[in-house]
Amino acid sequence: MSNIPVFRPIISADEFSACTEALENGWLGMGSYVGDFEKNIKQFLSLNDRFPVALSTGHAALHLALLLIGVGDGDEVITPSFNNIADFQAIIATGASPVFCDICDNSLCIDLEKAERLINSKTKAIISMDYACQLCDHDKLEELSKKNSIRIIHDAAHSFGSKYKNKLIGSFSDICMFSFDPVKTITSIDGGILVVKSEEEQQIIQEMRLIGMGQPSKVMYQNKRAWTYDVSRLGFRYHMPNLHAAIGIAQLAKMEQISASRQETCRYYNNVLGRISDLNIPDTNFDNITPFLYYIRVAEDRRNALSDYLSKNGIDTGIHWQPGHLFTRFQDYPHDDLSVTNTICREILTIPLHSFMSDDIKSKIVKTIGDFFKNN
Ligand SMILES: *Cc1c(COP(=O)(O)O)cnc(C)c1O
Repeated sequence: MSNIPVFRPIISADEFSACTEALENGWLGMGSYVGDFEKNIKQFLSLNDRFPVALSTGHAALHLALLLIGVGDGDEVITPSFNNIADFQAIIATGASPVFCDICDNSLCIDLEKAERLINSKTKAIISMDYACQLCDHDKLEELSKKNSIRIIHDAAHSFGSKYKNKLIGSFSDICMFSFDPVKTITSIDGGILVVKSEEEQQIIQEMRLIGMGQPSKVMYQNKRAWTYDVSRLGFRYHMPNLHAAIGIAQLAKMEQISASRQETCRYYNNVLGRISDLNIPDTNFDNITPFLYYIRVAEDRRNALSDYLSKNGIDTGIHWQPGHLFTRFQDYPHDDLSVTNTICREILTIPLHSFMSDDIKSKIVKTIGDFFKNN
């Protein structure tokens, strides 16, 4: 029998029939399904003064977000080192440098006091990333952004469906990005959404995702295209195809149940694992949070032993993440004190979290973790 995986997407009859329908439709590129997916996202997030654009991946969304605000050669973008490689590569792809910032010990999100110290005349933006089931201090980020005239790119790949002070994530940020890659809370196989603040920014992103073609999206959303148009800007092949959007639509329709089941599992984990004194659990009650992953922290010398023990007993674990500044490709970029990151990255362990986990699976996982600490 194979191990309980860290992530498991929920693909049911709804997704299969959505795929069949989209394939039978015959318009395989960007078309009506993408328009509908954007419309449903807009509705789900209750967006009034924000505009979503569907893209091929979260990485593409980050790349276009950086280009949109004019990040380029010689600029600096502050990001937590404790972040996804996609963010670092997107920054480098523009010609700019990532500047690695530390995180807070409690939230594992960017430490804004340390971030402020890294701001200089080259700083164009800060990437704020909500980690796992934690949210950044978004009010303070907005203050920092206004005070220093720098833009905020909100990487909300982990916080789709969560609320910050009763506002849905995606509905209030300067620029916000979501990922729907295969392991995220909901998936479109691969896909991303960029939420921008004006119709003008929306138009620019719509052109950039279609190799710069000024091809109107509203025509393509009728499964049609124009044959004459202008090209006035840099562009990439970063659009979302219909088939992916069809799956995204089917997944989005299940968000309420997905969110409730993930919350329930995380509360169970916190409740049972919180009694183990050798473990540090997420400091949240999961109210208003749709958790993407669940992590525990184990003192450094035992993290790998616990991971091996769980694996031998049929349970996979993950590490989110190895910090950016330790990779060969990124080691020469600037950073300040990263002491919290350097500790956390040796303690952190992701344990399985899926939508609709069975009671058997949940209790096997907590029991096995408990056994490890009893016997070791
Ligand atoms: C998954 C992820 C990304 C990248 O999104 P893709 O859709 O995989 O390109 C970026 N940032 C964070 C925090 C992520 O978890």
